[in-house]
Amino acid sequence: MNIDINNFYKSKLKKIIELDQKRDMIDSFRSTESIIIRNKKKLVSFCCNDYLGLTQDNRVIKASINATKKYGTGAGASRLISGNHELFKKLEKKIAIFKGEESACIFGSGFLANIGIIPAISSKNDLILYDELSHASTNLGLKLSHARIYKFRHNNILHLKTILKKYRKNYKNCFLLTEGVFSMDGDRSKLKEISSLSKQYNFSIVLDDAHGFGILGNGRGSQYEIKPFPKTLIQMGTLSKAVGSYGGFIAGSKIITNLIYNKARSLIYTTGLPPSTIAASIKSIEIISKDAKLREKPLKKAILFCKLTNLPKPESCIVSIILKKEELAIKASNFLEKNGFYVGAIRPPTVPKNTSRLRFTFTAMQRDKDIIKLANLVNEIIQNNKIEKNK
Ligand code: PMP
Repeated sequence: MNIDINNFYKSKLKKIIELDQKRDMIDSFRSTESIIIRNKKKLVSFCCNDYLGLTQDNRVIKASINATKKYGTGAGASRLISGNHELFKKLEKKIAIFKGEESACIFGSGFLANIGIIPAISSKNDLILYDELSHASTNLGLKLSHARIYKFRHNNILHLKTILKKYRKNYKNCFLLTEGVFSMDGDRSKLKEISSLSKQYNFSIVLDDAHGFGILGNGRGSQYEIKPFPKTLIQMGTLSKAVGSYGGFIAGSKIITNLIYNKARSLIYTTGLPPSTIAASIKSIEIISKDAKLREKPLKKAILFCKLTNLPKPESCIVSIILKKEELAIKASNFLEKNGFYVGAIRPPTVPKNTSRLRFTFTAMQRDKDIIKLANLVNEIIQNNKIEKNK
């Protein structure tokens, strides 16, 4: 081992501590009814992506246990070697049918999907445009691709047009990466405008709908709420949020999935997901496709909260209140914790500087009476800090 290696890491950690950005893992026990126990404290959680409570659903748990009994605990190898147990095909078919696409492909996680597909679909003569608020996995996927990359200002169609006018003609293929619901702000992309630009400038859309799938567009995803339907090259999603399991997927044409099987390194060189996880996803998607009442709950809860706090009507079940300074966000989160609520203080580097915030996620399991109590506390925070209502 290098003699000085620990000092090297200590200095790295010191820098993180100086920026007040050091994070720690805290044991979290989640029960049903959106209760979380952290540091021995019982809190109502507004910090969880289990939007429909399906991680705790007995039907999903049973499907997962039965699959373990039948197939064992692990896939045993990568999907292209011997890890492609029969549940993969069942789940991929289910997702493709639900989305009305020709085919689908399951990845180990949403993160792995994004870092795999971006380099797989593009080459050095291509141009990729992406929204500046894209997820970390998209940013990493872009770094792994050889294409020319331009970022456009968040949801700024004018800026996007300027870039297209200037650069599109110099490249063979062009792709645009954006999100159905932006994970830290909860707003949606301007897919309608982007879709019409895609015809004018001949580019293909790759949509990360990690936070829309399972809830918006009758559970099929955010783009299914838009008319005319905006055609995408790839719809990407996760199985770890509304679906309450684990894994990621893409849906699109057969040509795309065939290419992905052969080119996406984060699919090829990693072990397939365990049967229990895939079985849980199959059962969850069955529930999601049938249970409209359940699907609608998280957004209804977010709407109730925004009404009570005089915030604009939310576009998704993620609501952020920007407090700007990190200290303010931490203070507000601590204040809510003292009063029985777990709401994350999101700070740089997760979000841009001077946009530290309280980020609330609304789920089907939260009780209205808790939301009312939380809204009263948040109103206190807003008044005490004279916060302008963002968005
Ligand atoms: N894309 C977005 C927009 C996300 O919010 C996330 C998860 N936070 C991912 C991709 C990665 O998905 P997964 O958790 O399945 O790796």
